[in-house]
Amino acid sequence: MSVDVDGEISSDGETVESPAPRAKRRRHAPLKVANQLSPKRRKEIEKALKKKSPTPKKWSRDSGQKNHIFARKRIKPGTIRQVEFNLLDVEIGESWPIPVTIVHGTRPGPVVTVLGAIHGNELVGPLALTYLCGPNFLGEDKDIDPSVFTGTLRIVPIVNLPGYRRQSRYITDGRDLNRNFPGRIDSNTTSRVANRIWNTLIEGSDHIVDLHTAAPGRTNMPQIRANLAHPRSNRIARAFGIEAILDTVGPKGSLRRTANEAKIGCITYEGGGSNEADPESVQVAIYGVLNVLRSLRMIPGYPSRPPFRLIASGSTWIRSDQGGLLDVLAPAGSFVEEGEIVATVTDPECPGESHNIHTPSRGLLIGTATHPFVTAGTPIGHLLPVVRGVKTLRKRLDIEGCLIICGSDGEPPWREDDDVEDIAIEGEWSGGSPDAEWGHQSGLDIEEESE
Ligand SMILES: [Zn+2]
Repeated sequence: MSVDVDGEISSDGETVESPAPRAKRRRHAPLKVANQLSPKRRKEIEKALKKKSPTPKKWSRDSGQKNHIFARKRIKPGTIRQVEFNLLDVEIGESWPIPVTIVHGTRPGPVVTVLGAIHGNELVGPLALTYLCGPNFLGEDKDIDPSVFTGTLRIVPIVNLPGYRRQSRYITDGRDLNRNFPGRIDSNTTSRVANRIWNTLIEGSDHIVDLHTAAPGRTNMPQIRANLAHPRSNRIARAFGIEAILDTVGPKGSLRRTANEAKIGCITYEGGGSNEADPESVQVAIYGVLNVLRSLRMIPGYPSRPPFRLIASGSTWIRSDQGGLLDVLAPAGSFVEEGEIVATVTDPECPGESHNIHTPSRGLLIGTATHPFVTAGTPIGHLLPVVRGVKTLRKRLDIEGCLIICGSDGEPPWREDDDVEDIAIEGEWSGGSPDAEWGHQSGLDIEEESE
């Protein structure tokens, strides 16, 4: 039994509120990093966040708002423009023009870029961003008003247009755009596309929200992936306002990792599966992007916050030990007990025989397989083992035992950041990083990676 900063662990492993510290908590405290993550990682994050980063001079109201230059176009303060940006710089042949909606506010402030479909078959991003570009940006019949907007928002519903058209994750040469940043102008097609995106859309951004889904054959409960030791990313990861944050640096060559190395805040949202329009994941994506903009004071209103955050520095893969056809019993988002049957495997060649797959520990199933074909070793579930905060978490389960994600059931009640309970998920990314798992059925996906 151990006692931690914000609560104590009761005999059944649950965190119970200790009454005294709560009243003493400071209001408007700096970003809270206690009671979460491994002590080593906690120290790294605390150290990174201690460095003061003053508001850039260019955001000062006194300096006045200047034109925003994008792809050689000049966008005046207080205007919205849709600009076509070519993924390839060619004189003849396909240049793949993609639409970019730019909202340039009247007051100076951060430049935020929101991206969908870097993987062409992940449609939650395009759906959420098409909605945001429409007439209901700030609620029913309240579209974007650039005259009360601070800073600059660039919305790119579909980045990987050639992949989107072919319903494919990849660029036409079979490479993964999200493994090729910052790219090179004299290299292969994907690398050239990555480089043009990097130079035009990424380098001029202060913050990036990159919207994804799980790769084919699986689905994700809405979650954020971010390097929490990167201050700007930490801020927007929390501001997004949902429960699960996975603290990872991201795969090599991914937009997130490369942007962080260039000191640009960048988070990945994962929700739902590819080639599908999961309405809950779309809704949570819209809610999260608006929260980030509110938190950066670019649009009016206060960001909404979840009742708790699971800050995960580790996860577990549940694998099938048998081959056959999978039937998933616990959908993504389920809270499961140790030993619970989450799926069964049957084999058409052995009718009547069925094997159960059990959870190794109590936790939240943040991703599951959707493709029924499994062999021994196929991952069928991505589990965040939960030790602390079980009581808090249980309060937010629906009748099926699934977590009700903040933002999926209307505007959540107002709460201060100090009232958000941080729950640590400690451990290792067993079997590699959370991004380096789940092989799927496309022969091209040699690296077996998601994000
Ligand atoms: Zn993706």
